[in-house]
Amino acid sequence: MATPPAPHSFRRRFLDELPGDVDTSTAPRPVVGALWSRVQPTPVPAPRVVAWSSSLAQELGLDDALRGDPGTAAVLGGNALWPGMDPYAANYGGQQFGQWAGQLGDGRASVLGELQRPDGGFSELQLKGAGPTAYSRRGDGRAVLRSSIREFLCSEAMHALGVPTTRALSLVHTGQPVVRDMFYDGNAAPEPGAIVCRVAPSFLRFGNFELPSARGDVPLLRTLTDFTLRQFFPELGAPGRDASTGLLQEVAARTARLMAHWQAVGFVHGVMNTDNLSILGLTIDYGPYGWIDDFDFGWTPNTTDAANRRYAFGNQPAIGAWNVARLGEALLPLVDGDEQVVEAAMATYATAYTGAATQRFAAKLGLTFDAAQADGQLLQDLFTWLQQTGIDMTLFFRALAPLVVADAAPAGLPPSITAAFYRAPTDEQATTGVTWLQRWWQRTRRERRLAADIAAAMARVNPKYVLRNWLAQVAIDAAHAGDFSKVERLLHVMARPFDDQPEHDDLAQKRPDWARNKPGCSALSCSS
Ligand code: AMP
Ligand code: MG
Repeated sequence: MATPPAPHSFRRRFLDELPGDVDTSTAPRPVVGALWSRVQPTPVPAPRVVAWSSSLAQELGLDDALRGDPGTAAVLGGNALWPGMDPYAANYGGQQFGQWAGQLGDGRASVLGELQRPDGGFSELQLKGAGPTAYSRRGDGRAVLRSSIREFLCSEAMHALGVPTTRALSLVHTGQPVVRDMFYDGNAAPEPGAIVCRVAPSFLRFGNFELPSARGDVPLLRTLTDFTLRQFFPELGAPGRDASTGLLQEVAARTARLMAHWQAVGFVHGVMNTDNLSILGLTIDYGPYGWIDDFDFGWTPNTTDAANRRYAFGNQPAIGAWNVARLGEALLPLVDGDEQVVEAAMATYATAYTGAATQRFAAKLGLTFDAAQADGQLLQDLFTWLQQTGIDMTLFFRALAPLVVADAAPAGLPPSITAAFYRAPTDEQATTGVTWLQRWWQRTRRERRLAADIAAAMARVNPKYVLRNWLAQVAIDAAHAGDFSKVERLLHVMARPFDDQPEHDDLAQKRPDWARNKPGCSALSCSS
């Protein structure tokens, strides 16, 4: 069989246009006055592509036959480069759990290059887990298979849900064990290692801007901001004070809309440090994330955050705002220290969040949001009930569309809703639920649309299949036993989350009892 053509149209704007580190070693160190450091991925013994996103490959103009080509495994495993690739690690800082942490940087990620897509745009290809960089600090630069499977699958699942996100092209099994103390209890053990090839127009984070600003390096901050404006926000006009103001406004709005989207699908990021917030408003850095099974605003998947719950489900919108405020402070030197610029961005955030969240949740109920019809109250009352009952979020919303096409409001709790409880509701909760359903059903009659059209629109915003934690864990357990077919199946099913796929109904179930407290299914550590 002929070898499929390797991609060759790479460019390297980040390296060509921005100051880099003169030191090319990977000795961990502070890197001052530079936005990146060169890195060569560290080779692995036996790279094998064990999962591959054909849909992304197609968008990138990559021949699908590359998946089975040993040359591809070599490149995506960090053992070789395609012509034109020139890897680097980016330098950034971040606020971690509310504290400024100083320089962090890509400690285990290397950007290989920017590939020109058939549509003319460019996408960065980045390996995560390809070995140490100048920013690895005490880390080994590697990633374990379980967290890599989770990042690979969730990136593609989020994309299919329509949530802005970095993508994942491939999952490579490296053949090199990685030692991790999964529970932080002193029991470090070897686990299979893996590398994900992530893809995005840019992996720039809030932290890339915060670091030069915190160091008082205004020229470097300006260089980076001007680059970002030129490359990714040309509509904001020529770099300068106004464009910088516009950038903050735009990032505020995008972040707010992203938070509304996360809330609407029940996604909890888990580590919303400013180094994990994308300047493009993408979901980035899938670590100890999780999906809401039983509805709970207080839930966090991240065991490291279990005490404070800073990044719990219900806090995400406020933390998004907090992070935008930190970005705003970082950009102050570019707007003559005018704090009103930051205040205006915060106002934009609040308006954008409320608008997007009400619109998304109303759409989940089949409604065109209308404050005059007390839709705000209807939503509030629903959230209260969801929180009190702890009903399965995905199953609850998915159960509504069939009720819209019924001839009458529900007289009791429909079986599809009863089946979504994890614990039986009290009589009062059941009555409140029925009353709410009746109010909601009556409200749907005042939409100027056919019930069938409303139901069809609801099915396009209430997913049937989300990457529940326990589903990913089952696939991970199989992968550890050498069977990647479950990963493949999840990739396939999650690519069409809104479609009924009756042969995959077992993937649309609420969390089974055995998974309730099983590590990976309920809570995850940051160890990855
Ligand atoms: P995270 O919160 O997982 O996005 O990571 C926070 C920081 O730690 C980033 O700078 C990462 O590059 C770095 N990091 C995480 N794991 C490792 C590792 N195994 N080796 C080196 N750096 C790491
Ligand atoms: Mg990160």
